[in-house]
Order: sequence, then structure tokens, then C-alpha cells
Amino acid sequence: MIEWNQLGFSYIKTNTMICAHYKDGKWGEIESRTDDNITISGLSASLHYGVECFEGLKAFNCKDGKTRIFRPDENAKRLIRSATYLGIEAPDIEMFIKMVRQAVAENKEFVPPYGTRASLYIRPTLIGVGAQLGVKSSEESFFFIAVAPVGNYAGGIDAPVPAVIAREYDRAAPKGSGSYKVGGNYAASLYAGIEAKKAGYPAVLYLDPKEHKYIDEFSSSNFFAIKGDKYITPDSHTVLPSITNKSLIQVAMDLGYTIERRPIPVEELDTFDEVGECGTAVVITPVSRIDDKPSILGKECTKVYNYKACGPVSRKLYDTLTGIQYGEIEDRHGWCLEL
Ligand SMILES: *Cc1c(COP(=O)(O)O)cnc(C)c1O
Repeated sequence: MIEWNQLGFSYIKTNTMICAHYKDGKWGEIESRTDDNITISGLSASLHYGVECFEGLKAFNCKDGKTRIFRPDENAKRLIRSATYLGIEAPDIEMFIKMVRQAVAENKEFVPPYGTRASLYIRPTLIGVGAQLGVKSSEESFFFIAVAPVGNYAGGIDAPVPAVIAREYDRAAPKGSGSYKVGGNYAASLYAGIEAKKAGYPAVLYLDPKEHKYIDEFSSSNFFAIKGDKYITPDSHTVLPSITNKSLIQVAMDLGYTIERRPIPVEELDTFDEVGECGTAVVITPVSRIDDKPSILGKECTKVYNYKACGPVSRKLYDTLTGIQYGEIEDRHGWCLEL
């Protein structure tokens, strides 16, 4: 028995994982597997050279009893963009959506019941496989979709977090991989995350890697701020284009807020009413304060910024977007795909 209200973001084994193998210039049959272990060559480029990219999206049991998947076409397009950057083959949009549908359909009893505010997290993963030694991309790729029910336990809109600015680390190079959803970006940000956790910060905020003057994003979520009736989010080549942020921007526009997408100087943190992290896993995590210090583990802060958490605008945006996802508010942009 799953305790839907106790779910956090841990992996729970479900029925099946949906897989496909690209080899000799074509995709093989789509396979459903009960085993979530996979066998690949130890000489796969994914293991040596980071030829890996992934996606994250969700399925919801809605108010009308139907199950819906949120914007899978956007994830399909982003995966293709990441795979192109890595030089490997990705499934096309149609194949991606077909496999996502199958993954949800075969794990229907793991989609949390309507009313629990939990959902089914979907993790499409694409890796370069095939034995090779040379430094190059892979001609073979393996694509699989795993799913797991997730909830808000010990996190989410009601659990504001303090963040620290990463003054000693960058997650991506100025003209590097920051805007692609590749595992390598995570490898580059995990150590700062370890230090931050030790120092009591659940969130790390990165600055633009060229000048270190502007806000980029958190290690796995985008940055947004509210100032009066404005929704402000960075315009930067090194930020991952979040589908949650894109959706919140549309929701904010629909609610009459003004959108500003532009470079955000660090000092401007002083002027915001509300600050939040946004991403698929939690939608919005309010940020209660941001500490700017020379070193994450250091005691002294150069500057501390405090915010209303959770502020009324973040709450309104959160309620509206999750309302659309659970079928409580009209899906006027056609974002939700019925299973
Ligand atoms: C996935 C990701 C996000 C959030 O994107 P969503 O599409 O909203 O889930 C933000 N930043 C980084 C670095 C990411 O990898």
C-alpha cells in the first residue's frame, strides 16, 4: 500500500519501464520491461564521456476521473535538442509521446488518486551505448522511460527554503552546455550541493558564468521573482529552458501580470517581493532568503536578502498551474494530453 500523502521524491519500483534501442540507423521495437536494470557495454560513451540526456514530466489523475499528461510535446522537443547537442539519435515527437503514454498506461495504479496533490513523475532517459574507446559520440542510443509516484511530503509550496549564491562554482561554461538537459550539468553542480547541504541550504543559486553579475538559475530549477505586478525571470544562454517557467509565464500573463525576461543584476535581489524556484518536480518552491557569501561553507555573509514566503503571487500562480494540471481550471492553452 502506498501512503499517497507521505510521498516525497524517492524512487518506488513500478510495473514497467518502456524501452527502445537505436542501432544500425534505425529504432527497434518498443519494449515493455518489468526489470528496471539494464545491460549495456561497460565501454558505452554515456559512462565515459557523459553522452546522456533526460527529461522530467508528470501525469495527473484529474477531477473528472481522467488521467492527463502535462505538455509532453515540449519535453519531446527539448530531448531532441539535447540529443542533437550530444550528437546522438533521439526518438521523434510522435514516438516519444507514444512511449510516454504507454509508460503511464502500464502503471496506472501508480498515478496517485485525485485529491492527494501527488502525481506520477515520468523520467525519459537517453544514453549513448555500444562498445567504443575513442572520444566521439555514439552511433547507438538507448531510450527508456521510468515512472514513479511523487508527492509534496517535506517540500513544495508550503516549505520555503533558504538559498545560497554559488560564488566559488559555476554549473556551466559561458558558451557551454547550460541550456541542455544533460547529466554533465548535474555532475558539475553536485559538489556545490553537498557543501550547501552541510551549511544548511537546500538550494544553490548560480550566477551567469561569464561576468558573475547576473542571476542564472538554481541547480535544477529556474529562478523567478515578483516585484509589484511584474513576473521577472532571467534571459540567459546558460539557463535550462524550463517548461514550468514557460507555463508560469503564460499563467502570469493570463492573470494580468507583466512579464520581464531580462538579465537580473545580483543587487536587484534587494528589490523583490517574492522569489521562487520553479520546475516540474515541485512546480514552485518559495525562497525565504538568499545569502551572498564568498564561500558556501563560510560563516560571514556579504549580504542577506529576505522574502515573503510563500508570497501571495507565488501562491496564486501555483494554485492556477496545478489547478490546470488537475483539471480544476480550464486548460485554455491545450497543455494537458488525455491518456
Ligand atoms: C529540468 C531543469 C529545470 C526545470 O525544467 P522543467 O521543464 O520546468 O522541469 C530547471 N533547471 C535545470 C538545470 C533543469 O535541469
